Amino acid sequence: RRFFNVHVRDQEMSKRALSVTREENFPDWYQAVVRDGDMAETSPVRGCMIIKPWGWGVWERLQVELDARIKDTGHDNCYFPLFIPMSFIAKEAEHVEGFAKEMAVVTHHRLKNEGGKLVVDPDAKLEEPLIVRPTSETIIGDAFQRWIKSYRDLPLLMNQWANVVRWEMRTRLFLRTAEFLWQEGHTAHADRDDAVAETLKMLEVYRTFAEDVLAMPVIAGEKPANERFPGADNTYSIEAMMQDGKALQAGTSHYLGTHFAEAQNIQFQNTDGKLTYCHTTSWGVSTRLIGGVIMTHGDDDGLRLPPMIAPRQIVIVPMLRDKPEDAALIDYCVSLEKDLKAAGIRTLVDMKAVKSAEKRWNWVRRGAPIIVEIGGRDASGSNVTFMRRDRLRDGDKVISQTLARADFVAQAPALLQEIQQTLYSEAKARLDGNIITTFKSFEDLADYFGPAEGEDEGGAFKGWARVPWSRPEGASLEAIADRLKALKLTIRNAPLGQEEAVGKCLFTGEAAKEYVLIARAY
Ligand code: AMP
Repeated sequence: RRFFNVHVRDQEMSKRALSVTREENFPDWYQAVVRDGDMAETSPVRGCMIIKPWGWGVWERLQVELDARIKDTGHDNCYFPLFIPMSFIAKEAEHVEGFAKEMAVVTHHRLKNEGGKLVVDPDAKLEEPLIVRPTSETIIGDAFQRWIKSYRDLPLLMNQWANVVRWEMRTRLFLRTAEFLWQEGHTAHADRDDAVAETLKMLEVYRTFAEDVLAMPVIAGEKPANERFPGADNTYSIEAMMQDGKALQAGTSHYLGTHFAEAQNIQFQNTDGKLTYCHTTSWGVSTRLIGGVIMTHGDDDGLRLPPMIAPRQIVIVPMLRDKPEDAALIDYCVSLEKDLKAAGIRTLVDMKAVKSAEKRWNWVRRGAPIIVEIGGRDASGSNVTFMRRDRLRDGDKVISQTLARADFVAQAPALLQEIQQTLYSEAKARLDGNIITTFKSFEDLADYFGPAEGEDEGGAFKGWARVPWSRPEGASLEAIADRLKALKLTIRNAPLGQEEAVGKCLFTGEAAKEYVLIARAY
């Protein structure tokens, strides 16, 4: 593998700004982007990450955009405790079973000093253990049960931005961490129709958010029964294709039926005065989305951020030379920044005492959409020289363009939109071009995907399969899932809005009811 000193990057333009390419080793490449793009790092706490300012800036942008869409569909934000009494979680049988293996439990509330050593005070045992929330259905349901009295209180539409903990054994920064950040929507409705409509509405909010804001095309569909959220009647997901051909479940929306309402006595008086159970939903997306953005848009020079979520959309690097002329150069950069900010563009002049070439490559690796480099000649000629991060190179050569300053400022908003669109189109072409629909039998599928060799290096690009199936449940479905698991494959979802299925189920040989997507997944 090639490792080279990043500080001498400027003389080595033909080399890439990361120490490893996607082709060489996709998982290592991912780690390099996260690290060298200043997104996050591992922490002293197993499975938990430190999100650095640039990564946090992306999360904030993502929150602002999604929060507006959540509110626009009638939901209010609220906040519930981090701890859930164990008895609450125990109320819904499937739910507790699903999460039992990954719960962090608080049992004591005090330490004591024992001969100079800190120990857990056995006298400070909690009467009832507290669970660090893995999700909040049960504690929010408890409030719903008190808040909802009559049909007039419905629908009740809530959302919470929070951190949750699931004791995951195999963790990877952003994609799967023990503590992660998310939003969780929780709603209660008078009947099934209204709750199902809500579930699908929020799935659609996620779909458009992923595509319009993250420039990440996804396929929305229903999960098979074996992949449902513990306690749900139906689970829907959006699935995105990463550049290694694997699927990433980027968000989920659940119709919970009356399971939680019955377990927690969430009832209302209907228009006939009769006590009736509510139908509830929940839906969430997490910091995993940032991992999705990295694996959708990153290239061998690092991250490429869609302008809508870039904390800084344009970064200006003054090419300082420790000379008296520097002062005029800085003035020029600051006044350019002012103009761009006035046009509503998130702009930064990078004034760090670091060589300008190094600054340039730092912003390339972080994925700032437009990187401006101002030298003495740009300033005196009132020009702007810049690079587009979406089209950084022509072959191996880095492309920079020069525009008159006034033109650059006038064109910048449209340019950012174009970058957003280019990133989306590239990803959309990859998704559309790599769903294979021609498998005639399970053996065909097994031949193509083969044993998952070289998985640790990321494995070969395979894409997804789309196959007809008869929507089996129970033992039959379990058996199919096991056969797929041996190939490291899973059923991702049955896309919504698909045409009527023809032919036979690839697994059962019965008449097909619909098509499902099958893939290796994160
Ligand atoms: P769920 O409540 O299980 O439906 O999870 C909601 C969403 O959170 C999922 O669709 C994932 O995108 C995300 N998610 C689940 N587990 C993790 C994890 N360990 N780390 C990061 N994101 C996660």
